[in-house]
Amino acid sequence: MKINVAGIAEESFSDGPGIRCVVFAQGCRHRCPGCHNPETHSFSGGQWIHIRDVLRLMEKNPILDGITLSGGDPFEQAEGFGALAELTKRHGYHVMTYTGYLFEFLLEHREEKGWGRLLAWTDVLVDGPFDLGRRFPPSKFRGSSNQRIIDVPRSLASQRAVTQ
Ligand code: SF4
Repeated sequence: MKINVAGIAEESFSDGPGIRCVVFAQGCRHRCPGCHNPETHSFSGGQWIHIRDVLRLMEKNPILDGITLSGGDPFEQAEGFGALAELTKRHGYHVMTYTGYLFEFLLEHREEKGWGRLLAWTDVLVDGPFDLGRRFPPSKFRGSSNQRIIDVPRSLASQRAVTQ
């Protein structure tokens, strides 16, 4: 399966815990004022890459702890990025995903939008749009203070507990 990417940072120390490969999805609907990656907004640019080639790239670097799916918004290509999240997670990598959507919205629409797989294979989600007015104080892994760092497995487990 292929995904459309704006770029890949093969080794990052600032996009999640530990040392990570960062994959930037091409395409984003949120258009947050002050976005640091406006070149990722268009759905017509980017480069298509097979998810197995992303894994091969990661496996060349033995010090990597995980993968960060950023953007753009990976949830706009949820099928491909969900497959990438599953593939890398099954190979022992920690998966962190950024999105401009709120977690509750993703959960509510996970069936019809196909967001469930990407959610299910994400360890940590950073959600919500970048808010230029709330960008200070700078916060680890977040662009603005409205964004949340969510432990997805724990949140999904508590959701299940509530609905059972
Ligand atoms: S969601 Fe992220 S990539 Fe999209 S416009 Fe907002 S800050 Fe930029």
